[in-house]
Amino acid sequence: MTFRALVVNKSDDHYQCELTQLSSEALPDEDVHLKVLYSSLNYKDGLAITGKAPVVRKFPMIPGIDLVAEVIQSRDEQFKAGDKVVLNGWSVGEKYWGGLAEYANLRGDWLIPLPSKLSAEQAMWIGTAGYTAMLSVMALQQHHISPESGPIVVTGAGGGVGSFAVYLLAKLGFKVIAVTGRESLHPYLKELGASEFMAREELDKPGKPLQKEQWAGAIDCVGSHTLANVCARTQYGGVVACCGLAQGMDLPASVAPFILRGVTLAGIDSVMRPKADRIKAWAQLAELVDANMLAKIGQTIPLEQALDYAHQLMDGQVKGRVAVKIA
Ligand code: NDP
Repeated sequence: MTFRALVVNKSDDHYQCELTQLSSEALPDEDVHLKVLYSSLNYKDGLAITGKAPVVRKFPMIPGIDLVAEVIQSRDEQFKAGDKVVLNGWSVGEKYWGGLAEYANLRGDWLIPLPSKLSAEQAMWIGTAGYTAMLSVMALQQHHISPESGPIVVTGAGGGVGSFAVYLLAKLGFKVIAVTGRESLHPYLKELGASEFMAREELDKPGKPLQKEQWAGAIDCVGSHTLANVCARTQYGGVVACCGLAQGMDLPASVAPFILRGVTLAGIDSVMRPKADRIKAWAQLAELVDANMLAKIGQTIPLEQALDYAHQLMDGQVKGRVAVKIA
């Protein structure tokens, strides 16, 4: 039997991604055999598909760092045929074959049940981006940041993680300042709950180590000078959740905000996150997201268009989230 899959290959200096047919015998020997229903396009998938950064660590590779799937067969007692499951991270789509294919074989320990309140499509509109935004919000809450503490700034607000961060924070009663390089997205971000806007250019250049205090917390999807300026403008005792690197992986900052204002920099990793945290984050997402709002953040494309959309994502032209319908 063969199945359709997006496959990344590298030979010498030639990097290539194409939609092709693979033999089901080529699937790895893992506990759970799955029929993929939806996957999604995340920033990391964009990097893997276009080859813009070396995120793929083994070739050939099926990209797709997240998926919702139906269990066909399982050697893991946690799952039985017919169960619907969600996967995020665990290096799937980088080191292990991922979600942009009709079938996948994965480890049972990596999977969590799809929350009953969410459809497969809705879960992939949320995807790793929404789950990472939720983990970031949880980090602010764990450090006792509440709506009374002051406003929260979200950078890269027009992207997948940023859109969800704006929405989830607003839903929880926070005042949200959205930082975007696209003024055309203001109406969309306002609908998600942003009450103030800041242009990307105000934060993406070198700035002073300490600046006027403007917010109690931040969810930063961007890194580099933006993150340095975000920390420099965080008020005394504030918390910055650092989850992305869309501007760069560097952090040209000083220790001043941390040692003079007691600011906390909270690192967010979604990939190796323990299962208990994943279940908690997905349960909260299922409670907080509203079907109408989800439909505004998400769009769905067929597998045939994933390649094209991955390039658009890398060019910063995609708004919100893109689910990929597989089955
Ligand atoms: P998207 O591509 O959807 O969004 C990124 C957004 O960042 C863009 O929409 C844009 O927002 C902004 N941006 C892009 N380039 C620049 C730039 N040069 N300078 C400043 N802002 C820029 O990606 P995701 O939302 O999926 O991911 C965001 C980041 O989070 C990525 O770096 C990704 O790798 C990381 N990530 C980390 C995870 C973790 O586990 N820590 C998990 C998931 C993602 P706008 O146009 O509004 O300015």
